[in-house]
This record gives sequence, C-alpha cells and structure tokens, in this order.
Amino acid sequence: VPELPEVETVRRGLNQATLGQIIQGGEVLLPRTIAYPDAVESFLVGITGQRLTQWHRRGKYLLADLQTTPGESGGWLGVHLRMTGQLLWCDGVRGVSPSRHCRVRLWFDTGKELHFLDQRTFGRLWWVPPTESPDGVISGMGRLGPEPFSDAFSSTYLYQTMGRRRRPIKNALLDQTLVAGIGNIYADEALFLSGIRPTTLCVRIGRQRIIQLHQSILAVLTQSIEAGGTTFSDFRHVDGVNGNYGGVAWVYGRAGEPCRVCSMTIQRIKLAGRSAHYCPNCQR
Ligand SMILES: [Zn+2]
Repeated sequence: VPELPEVETVRRGLNQATLGQIIQGGEVLLPRTIAYPDAVESFLVGITGQRLTQWHRRGKYLLADLQTTPGESGGWLGVHLRMTGQLLWCDGVRGVSPSRHCRVRLWFDTGKELHFLDQRTFGRLWWVPPTESPDGVISGMGRLGPEPFSDAFSSTYLYQTMGRRRRPIKNALLDQTLVAGIGNIYADEALFLSGIRPTTLCVRIGRQRIIQLHQSILAVLTQSIEAGGTTFSDFRHVDGVNGNYGGVAWVYGRAGEPCRVCSMTIQRIKLAGRSAHYCPNCQR
C-alpha cells in the first residue's frame, strides 16, 4: 500500500516526466474510478486541453495544477492511489489495448500517455473545476491533519493532540486528521525507534517520549523518501513501490524474526483492524 514516501516518489517522477505537456484526451475504462465530476464525460471534457504545470502532494493525495492558457487556471487533477493504484508514464499506445488493470488513460500532445492502473479498484481520480477548491471537492482532503514535514507538525502539536487521548498510540498515528500520510509501515517503524509499544495509550506517554516519537517519524519518512528516490527513481517502475522501506525494516513485516537490537522475537498483533509489529523488549 503506498504511503507518504511512495506517493512523494511518484510525485517527483511525475514532475520530471509530465510538466508542460497538454492533455489531449483520454479514455475511462472503469467509470467508478472517476470520483468527480459525476459524469465521466464531464471529467474528460474538463481535463482536455489543459497543460500540467505542477504536481503537489497532500497526505497520500496527488494534485496536479492545470492551466488552460498561461496564467489561467484549468482547475486540478487529483489522484488517490489507495491500495493498488499506479501511475504509469508510457509511450503512446493509442489503438493498442492497455494492460488488464488499466482504469483510465490520458494522452498528451507529446504522444506520451499516463495510465492509471489499479488491480483492486479502490483508487480514484478527480477533476476539480477552477471555480471550486480541492479541499471542498476531494473527499477526505479537507480533513487532513498537518503534513509531517510542515512547521505545523511540531512535537508540541503532537503532544497536545495525541498526548491527551485514551487510545493506542498506533491508532492515533494512523488517524489522517491528526497527521497526514503516515500508514502502517512507518507508524510501526517510528514506534520501534522511539521505544513505544503500539498498544500504549497516548495519555500514558510523556513529553520526552513524544519528542522522541516526533523525531522518529521524521527520520523514517526521510530515510524512506531517500531510498525511494534511488530505488524507484523512475516512477514507471512504480509497481515496485510496496513500501518495503528499502528492505531494512526494524519490525514491520518481521513477525517471528529476531529483533535487530536485542534478538527478542518480533511480535505481530491486530490493532485497529491492521497488523502491528513490535519488539516486546525494546518497546514499552
Ligand atoms: Zn528488541
């Protein structure tokens, strides 16, 4: 499942590959992939003739600025990959059947195509008209908490918002309204690095440990983005983006294996409907 570092890697790849190019048209192979406007035709009409000028990331959403003419906004193209979505930048294959999991294809004035592939079909695309706002149109975006790398996400913020809650810290970290973009992998890894067990109630974690957790969150995200930049430098290979964290995970996906620090067996439990991994010795 793509998390913040993977989506950030895709964003950087899109900015290298697509900027300045004009969408000449497209084809929607699975109508429910288009979340807005309701009619697929309106989506295609809305994006056609628009130049891509910049890709942004907000949490796990991708958002492209569109321009009708220089200086005139054509709205935004929004993408959420959800579980299995991929964006594939490829040479034009018009007239050729795209791959089986292709849900949307957009073609550009340069002859290139952008394909949205999605095996599980939870991924969504939006065209936000210039008269509306992405926060208002794109479901969930308006409720996102601060970006981990923003000034708003300080250790003080983390302490004040999470520190008072009577729920497991892992659940709080996955809550996108508290902080945007952290998923299962990076929550588990950050909790290991800060020595906090995923089940520990927020209210029981003191200020110093929250400061440590804040630093750990930034560290694991930074490390993964850097790994993503090398391992997945070409987002055409985005099918390799499975959040393996460069294969150096401390606890994630390592149930039954020895802790890299103390050799105690890594445990896996269910928490908030997801699997949580931790070392019973290193994490309290
Ligand atoms: Zn350990």
